[in-house]
Amino acid sequence: MHFLRLLRQRSRFWRLTDRREIDKYLIIMHDDSPRYKRQREAMVRNQIEARGVSDPKVLEAMRRVPRHLFVNEALRDQAYNDHPLPIGEQQTISQPYIVAMMTEALQVDQEDRVLEIGTGSGYQAAVLAEIAYRVYTIERNRTLYENARKIFEQLGYYNIISRYSDGTIGWREESPFDAIIITAGAPEIPKPLMDQLAIGGRMVVPVGSSFSQKMAKVVKEEQGIHQTDLGGCRFVRLVGQYGWKDD
Ligand code: SAH
Repeated sequence: MHFLRLLRQRSRFWRLTDRREIDKYLIIMHDDSPRYKRQREAMVRNQIEARGVSDPKVLEAMRRVPRHLFVNEALRDQAYNDHPLPIGEQQTISQPYIVAMMTEALQVDQEDRVLEIGTGSGYQAAVLAEIAYRVYTIERNRTLYENARKIFEQLGYYNIISRYSDGTIGWREESPFDAIIITAGAPEIPKPLMDQLAIGGRMVVPVGSSFSQKMAKVVKEEQGIHQTDLGGCRFVRLVGQYGWKDD
């Protein structure tokens, strides 16, 4: 352990990318057993590729992020199953396929700055951070916000910047964003987020009632917006000034 601590300290003097790689390596040595890696591989093949997600960047990101470390220890063995899981505070981490599908729809590349509303466990942000230049993520629940910050730090996701506030009003100082993802169900697309999307930017958001939504993909162009429907889904509520008004 002493050696690992020394390595971590030394790594401060190295370039950011090296430090990030080393931190990830340390935690993966600790907690990412071959068994979890095998489960992750099977998840990507049977749940994600099999349902048509094909972007190699997305598949690689899903192979890399240790999803089991984003859930409570008691649920780790279920982390790679084909369903959402509770993360406390009456919230859930989405099913792996949904995370992959939304990430692919965002068409993120390595130069992009991405905004996520609803950090939750932090898993979706980590998947995006594997691909994007920088991920800004907002959470309105303090416990979840604090837990997610800890895991980003432990895993060395230094390109994720998180904030504790109402995400429906966005993050104006850092706008415009190349991509915006909302991981909670909205009654309608929050106007401030639409305004903070760059021209050429993509937004993915579940829109509908409290009980069921349709996944909308919006592309903002010079001439206006172009919206497509990616299918039915069910998310917890987006609560805030431009979302649902109560818990
Ligand atoms: N992306 C998450 C899943 C999020 S669950 C993951 O990968 O685990 C939805 C989250 O949205 C919850 O944590 C909830 O607290 C949060 N949320 C709901 N309304 C919000 C708002 N207005 N601003 C920020 N976060 C919000």
